[in-house]
Amino acid sequence: MAFQKFEGGSKKDFSPRPMIKGNWKCSGCNVEITELPFEPAADRPIYCRECWSKKRAEKLEK
Ligand SMILES: [Zn+2]
Repeated sequence: MAFQKFEGGSKKDFSPRPMIKGNWKCSGCNVEITELPFEPAADRPIYCRECWSKKRAEKLEK
């Protein structure tokens, strides 16, 4: 059985994060994004969920 270890965070704390509404375009696939779970930085590309997880996967491969 695989058991993922999370460092420095308890799973108890499960407060729903407020979604930030807006109108962006994904820098990866150009899909429209109307809400984000975090405040987008103006100087950074914005990615949709799919592209975001792809990016994360790429990083983890290294
Ligand atoms: Zn995308």
